Amino acid sequence: MAKEVIFTGLRANNDLHIGNYFGALLAIVDISNHHASDFEIDLMVADLHSFTTPIDHSKLQSQIMENLKVFVAAGLPLDHPNIRVFRQSYIPAHSELAWILDCFTGMGQISRMTEFKDKSKKVGQNKVNVGLFNYPVLMASDVLLYDVLYVPVGDDQTQHLEFMRDIAEHMNRKFKQRLFVVPKPVTEQHKFFKKDQGLRIRDLLDPTKKMSKSGENGNGVIFLTDTPEAAAAKIQRATTDSIGSINFDFEKQPGVANLLQILALLSGKPQSEVNSQWEGKDSYGELKSVVAEAIKSFLTDFQAKLATVDETKLMQKLEADELAINKAANKTLLKVQKAVGLRPA
Ligand code: AMP
Repeated sequence: MAKEVIFTGLRANNDLHIGNYFGALLAIVDISNHHASDFEIDLMVADLHSFTTPIDHSKLQSQIMENLKVFVAAGLPLDHPNIRVFRQSYIPAHSELAWILDCFTGMGQISRMTEFKDKSKKVGQNKVNVGLFNYPVLMASDVLLYDVLYVPVGDDQTQHLEFMRDIAEHMNRKFKQRLFVVPKPVTEQHKFFKKDQGLRIRDLLDPTKKMSKSGENGNGVIFLTDTPEAAAAKIQRATTDSIGSINFDFEKQPGVANLLQILALLSGKPQSEVNSQWEGKDSYGELKSVVAEAIKSFLTDFQAKLATVDETKLMQKLEADELAINKAANKTLLKVQKAVGLRPA
């Protein structure tokens, strides 16, 4: 019997940050280390998604390699045959399926995406491109090509996950066959990844917004490549509030709650345990110092692992996986091409 598929993708538009690490990467690395024999696990560098917001294109190649190395440093066991890594643009079926699905996606449906509204505000109206608007369709194609059931993503992608389920069901109904496996609903995804809800780490300077690679100047973002000292300084400068009492309340105290959340993630302790240690205390300075120390030791350890990644071995794995992935993707694409009449049935 075919194994259940778990899939995630991370853009290569900048260095990865702790939101990417804890929101998407860690879940897949954990499963890869403990249950790789039970699943097929696909990890994609979403290079085509990288320029939905403006980037320095001369750096994209090196950024792709750096992000792949981060997967390994995070603990992805490259040698396991059930784990596959690939670059999205090396699998042309993604772009082709995206075009087909574009033509079955309603403007109304895609216009509701809040991530588009948030990001377009950030990049400024005159810099918003069509790719940013319809990237959920490419994202649906990324997932639907591989019969994926589980997609570990942060909370920002919840609506897009719902969309990929809708488009898969719509296509299956319209063409009266199981063209696509429909990924599990969001609540089941959370259960599978043992979370109460999707994770959203906030920007340290503006905790009403998510921490994001395309953040304006990076001062509110902790990149995995930040020096431990620079990261600790960012924590020390994090925006809090004037309430003067520590509470885990994202509505009223988003900055403080964000620090508590980061501390729980860095220490690997349940959020409730960290909260009960800190709630009711009044020293934001003490909280910041503890989080700053935790980030320093996390990054020191992580960067030591990053420095030892064997690039040659990684490249060999990548190229071998891309051959296999192309075959799998083309099989699904052909089914769709036949259904829509592009190829003889
Ligand atoms: P991106 O690189 O923006 O495409 O995001 C890659 C993955 O990281 C996606 O699964 C996102 O949901 C997740 N992610 C990005 N930013 C955050 C954040 N601030 N908190 C939690 N997860 C995030």
